[in-house]
Amino acid sequence: MAAEPLCRHCKAKDIITAAVTPDHIIPLFKGGLAEDGNIQCLCKSCHDIKTAKDLGTFPHRQQAEIGADGWRIG
Ligand SMILES: [Zn+2]
Repeated sequence: MAAEPLCRHCKAKDIITAAVTPDHIIPLFKGGLAEDGNIQCLCKSCHDIKTAKDLGTFPHRQQAEIGADGWRIG
């Protein structure tokens, strides 16, 4: 975040927006790595859009409820 204070997606469109959240370029659930090279900083709206896209292109995943003991409920 300190190294990249501006939203990368907005910057690509010549819009200057403060980044508020680090984002995994390749989501972890798609096999992305939790390392700096896979992190970009985005503003809230770009992050929301990207997350929706990430989830939208991924095969439907059942949202299971997780109990306090870490096991699925039901
Ligand atoms: Zn943005």
